[in-house]
Amino acid sequence: MKVAVFSTKVYDRKFLEVANTQHKYELAFFDPYLNKDTAILAKGFPAVCIFVNDQADATTLEILAAQDTELLALRCAGFNNVDLKVAAELGIRVVRVPAYSPYAVAEHTIAMILCLNRKIHRAYNRVREGNFSLDGLMGFDLRDRTVGIIGTGKIGAIVSQILKGFGCHLLVHDVYRNPQVEALGAKYVELPEIFSKSDIISLHCPLMSDTHHLINSNAIEQMKTGVMLINTSRGALINAKDVTKGLKSGKIGSLGLDVYEKESDLFFEDLSGTIIQDEIFLRLTTFHNVLITGHQAFFTEEALHNIASTTITNITEVLQGVACANEITA
Ligand code: NAD
Repeated sequence: MKVAVFSTKVYDRKFLEVANTQHKYELAFFDPYLNKDTAILAKGFPAVCIFVNDQADATTLEILAAQDTELLALRCAGFNNVDLKVAAELGIRVVRVPAYSPYAVAEHTIAMILCLNRKIHRAYNRVREGNFSLDGLMGFDLRDRTVGIIGTGKIGAIVSQILKGFGCHLLVHDVYRNPQVEALGAKYVELPEIFSKSDIISLHCPLMSDTHHLINSNAIEQMKTGVMLINTSRGALINAKDVTKGLKSGKIGSLGLDVYEKESDLFFEDLSGTIIQDEIFLRLTTFHNVLITGHQAFFTEEALHNIASTTITNITEVLQGVACANEITA
């Protein structure tokens, strides 16, 4: 089986080659993202492997199907970048890696909370300049603070568990209740209560039509002044323009982003020699109370190992015609 691997980085190649040792699939590694312009690279490949910022929209899928691609293997959990309905119509099966390390993302979320609260990013820079002043670096005890968690699936549940250890009060919201999270003493509430009572709000729900721009001016207006907002889930859960206004007014006290709505033009690349054109992103980087990482929350050894081995197992199961638990349908 020939597999075209799109948006390949050195680390993807390393872990996929190790996972493929016994299977000996013909893996061809391509740097570009998959989209309608690059889909031609997959000509002659029955399987195509993609990541979070590849675009498997209707046009791209039609090109792939016309080139005899039958399988789309996602190296990620989220599938908002795949038109599942069109894939099904074209007979392209779609598999994903539903969980590779929820701990990786949860721990990165906590790292962002701690860094923003105690201003570690500012202290790091100050000390390097010989500036040991503490002005502007004051944080707050996490103990007894209220944290609102939106989405209590695998990652949200681990974030809840860690924050419980810090002595936080947990207000949570999800379309389903997670008994593990309830057992921590977390209280399931509606969004307005999360918005109005939380000192910290962290997003862990998927990006879907009903969660698109979940955090907008209306939601921000309901929040406590000085709220900390964290998004390690998907960029478009937040309306970045509205959040910028919230930061300017001081309503939002700090912001941690590992994802950004227009990240496909930015993240995973070294753009240090170019001029970034995205005005909203540039504005966000000017705030001292904003911490941005480039979609690295998943990036641990364990996660990369699991992504690669699950991807190869998914391909094998589809190839052997056995049921694949990680197949997704419209
Ligand atoms: P999960 O499916 O285990 O949990 C998602 C939870 O969100 C579920 O409990 C679901 O019921 C809930 N949900 C669905 N619609 C909702 C709504 N409208 N309001 C509130 N909750 C809702 O997924 P997970 O493994 O915990 O991952 C969560 C998200 O994290 C993924 O969707 C993905 O976008 C993101 N993620 C980011 C990274 C990264 O590197 N930054 C890595 C992996 C996953």
